[in-house]
Amino acid sequence: MRLIDAHVHLSDPEYAGHIEELIADAKNAGVAALVTNSLNLKTCQSDLNIAEKYKGLVYPALGIHPWNVNVLEEGELELTIDLIKKQRSVVKAIGEIGLDSKYETVWEEQIMVFDKMLHVAETLDLPVIIHSRGSTDKVIDLLPSYHVRRVLLHWFGYPLSTLDKAMEKGYFITEGPPVVYSSGIREIIKKVPLTNLLTETDGPVTYYKAPFMGQLTKPSFIRNVVDAVAEIKKMQVEDVAQQIAKNFQVFFNIKIE
Ligand SMILES: [Zn+2]
Repeated sequence: MRLIDAHVHLSDPEYAGHIEELIADAKNAGVAALVTNSLNLKTCQSDLNIAEKYKGLVYPALGIHPWNVNVLEEGELELTIDLIKKQRSVVKAIGEIGLDSKYETVWEEQIMVFDKMLHVAETLDLPVIIHSRGSTDKVIDLLPSYHVRRVLLHWFGYPLSTLDKAMEKGYFITEGPPVVYSSGIREIIKKVPLTNLLTETDGPVTYYKAPFMGQLTKPSFIRNVVDAVAEIKKMQVEDVAQQIAKNFQVFFNIKIE
């Protein structure tokens, strides 16, 4: 069985010193591909290094996260864009980018950075991985102004009506460990066509419910996610894993080794 962690942050300081063991554990669990998502220039560079070290298993998504728009250093945005362009042959997506309604004091800055990131995706014809807490409708309204062909709404949460809009447009969503215990997320899994779903851990985000609590979030948690999706969809685990691996290859234009 080939499992996919389409959204993880391997450059996060919480993972420092643990990468080797995390990768070994992931491989052991059948994880065949991971997309490490950057948050700023520093993590873009570090994610490129990790992807280079684990070629054929770890793939980089580069970008500036909406939480970082107010702490950007001078020139950081431009340098990040230059780096992405220079690394076009290895970059697999622009991410994690987006908008977050909880950070409304920097809303204008968020819009500006998101716009720049979408333009890069457009220019390089790369997929985008989007964070849209409290702003999914806004994001869905904005996207048609850009020629971005592949859109992934990460940790899609609510409302269900927005899911219909996203599916009409052919977008993909990712879901992670909450599939196991959250009734809201389970509703989404029930409704989303399996052809538009990818799995993620968003590690090192911590999950406080069983069976994840008290542990460092690991890509091997994906097995629990796939098991839960299979249970909700009343399908065989192998069939779910196979479809998700197929979705991954189509969405990111990556051939899993
Ligand atoms: Zn994330």
